[in-house]
Amino acid sequence: MYNNLDDLSPEHEEELNLLETHISELFTRLEKSEIQIELLKDENFQLKAQIQKLQQQSKQAQYKSPRAETIRIPKDIIPTVSSSDTNVRQNKRKCPNCGASGFSIKEVDDKTRIITYVPRKIYMKKKVCTKCRFEF
Ligand SMILES: [Zn+2]
Repeated sequence: MYNNLDDLSPEHEEELNLLETHISELFTRLEKSEIQIELLKDENFQLKAQIQKLQQQSKQAQYKSPRAETIRIPKDIIPTVSSSDTNVRQNKRKCPNCGASGFSIKEVDDKTRIITYVPRKIYMKKKVCTKCRFEF
């Protein structure tokens, strides 16, 4: 066995140098990519935080929107429908025989007069005066 380092041929020495520079190049590349990884980790962290913020904002928006809609709708509809309907019914409720009206008049089905069998049996309505038993 003999000492290799002293007996290296110029070609081998050159190759060795080349390999050494190549190795150091690889190390600097590795360092750069490690720095890049750290930067990307930071960016990823910031993006995740941003996503959480946006998700919370969209949740709050979802809670807010249906409330505003449900309050407004019923106000316009209710008064017009109910008042006119009850007025007509109360006017008709008056006994032509004794003149009693309101709660004295009962509306019942006239079982002798059937309007339709489909989809279910519907009878003509008749009114009965509870004071004089007059039917009309
Ligand atoms: Zn009556």
